[in-house]
Amino acid sequence: MHTKTLTELKAGLQAKDFSARELTEHFLARIEHHDGTLNSFVTVTADQALAQADAADQAIAAGDHRLLTGLPIAHKDIFCTEGVRTSCGSRMLDNFIAPYTATVVEKMADQGAIMLGKTNMDEFAMGSSNETSFYGPVRNPWDTERVPGGSSGGAAASLAARLTPGATGTDTGGSIRQPAALNGVTGLKPTYGRVSRWGMIAFASSLDQAGPLGLSAADCALMLTAMAGHDSKDSTCVDEPVGDYLGGINQDIAGLRIGVPEEFFPENLDGAIADNARDALRELEKQGAKLIKLSLPSVTLSVPAYYVIAPAEASSNLARFDGVRFGYRCDDPVDLEDLYKRSRSEGFGAEVKRRILVGTYALSAGYYDAYYKRAQQVRRLIRDDFARAFKDVDVIIGPTSPETAFKLGAKADDPVNMYMADVFTIAVNLAGLPALSMPSGLINGLPAGVQVIGNYFQEGRILNVAHRYQMATDWHQTIPGGFA
Ligand code: GLN
Repeated sequence: MHTKTLTELKAGLQAKDFSARELTEHFLARIEHHDGTLNSFVTVTADQALAQADAADQAIAAGDHRLLTGLPIAHKDIFCTEGVRTSCGSRMLDNFIAPYTATVVEKMADQGAIMLGKTNMDEFAMGSSNETSFYGPVRNPWDTERVPGGSSGGAAASLAARLTPGATGTDTGGSIRQPAALNGVTGLKPTYGRVSRWGMIAFASSLDQAGPLGLSAADCALMLTAMAGHDSKDSTCVDEPVGDYLGGINQDIAGLRIGVPEEFFPENLDGAIADNARDALRELEKQGAKLIKLSLPSVTLSVPAYYVIAPAEASSNLARFDGVRFGYRCDDPVDLEDLYKRSRSEGFGAEVKRRILVGTYALSAGYYDAYYKRAQQVRRLIRDDFARAFKDVDVIIGPTSPETAFKLGAKADDPVNMYMADVFTIAVNLAGLPALSMPSGLINGLPAGVQVIGNYFQEGRILNVAHRYQMATDWHQTIPGGFA
């Protein structure tokens, strides 16, 4: 059962080949067996999952088939789940039992999804390797000495190892797409505002967006249909109709105009990564797509702009964790100031503190104009670059990540080197565009991914391109050794 996609499992449930309980028990057993090695889950909610599975079986018996009825899903531990610990990968929230459920989780549950548990992640979603988690690093199932990427590393690794058939993630600068690439799975970051952020613990609110990770573009389409839509509890969530993402996925791509930006193939790019992306482009060309060279000059400034804007927003968002209302509180504070200082010093890890310091500095009087305001101006230039490009092309394609999975510890003491892991993904968040990463091959036995970027609310088109690629290739079906 675990080698099947959500779409296939859905058909199996409807045909009564197996029950939702059997399916759920199967995945829970796989988590039990393999997650000691991978560490991809922070919390497994077995009892709750089985109760949801029984409810799904009853619904199926009564003929009530919804989008995700009986399908197990793992949620990133950044989404609040009522009655279940929501840690965000941090000691700060190690004891936090959420009093309410995030819209994304609720919408998927309303469609019949079963929650297997909460996946490991970089602390407060800050990182590209999952090494900043309070619960220890996640290991990449393709090579357990290597990182799974981040911050949705637990989501991507558990999916690649077939411990769950579907997962949710969040992407502020690449946290769905980069781990998807490093684990050989498909991940979609929707247009900013397509999916509600309510109940999703905030990192950088103008960039954060939730999305699905799946074994195929079709599975991502299915999950996105359940996740997306207007939510009056998030004022940035857009009131745009949700497309028929699955229904439109198999259209012919003859004549599709694919933009290939020179900035995504810089001279110093690893040759194997460049060749891999070019092979994927050739496959799409074979199906009738046209490649158009273009330039997005300001995109080269996206990493520095992001590392001013994201920490600035984080420094403000994380001010709420003060040891008073919820989360970690230090022992025996002598006064209020001691309570604040020690709760925050002990509750947050090193990367989170670095971001708070950088962000507070960039926003302070005297530096605001030089850093924050300037970064926002760069952000506008990046948005304008994409707007210009989308006058001539339908999608933009390049590598997702400049390298395959690196060794655990390789960049842990070198933040700037770590930040460069998102060099191809960050511009998309700054512009608010949708983008998907799909598996495009193996390099020395490790997965590589290609990123398909679309114009605003063009999730359907991106999914269509990825699906047509997956119809002609089988990289998305390749399972890491030991997990088949
Ligand atoms: N790796 C980037 C960072 O550390 C992006 C993280 C994310 O998308 N949540 O900020």
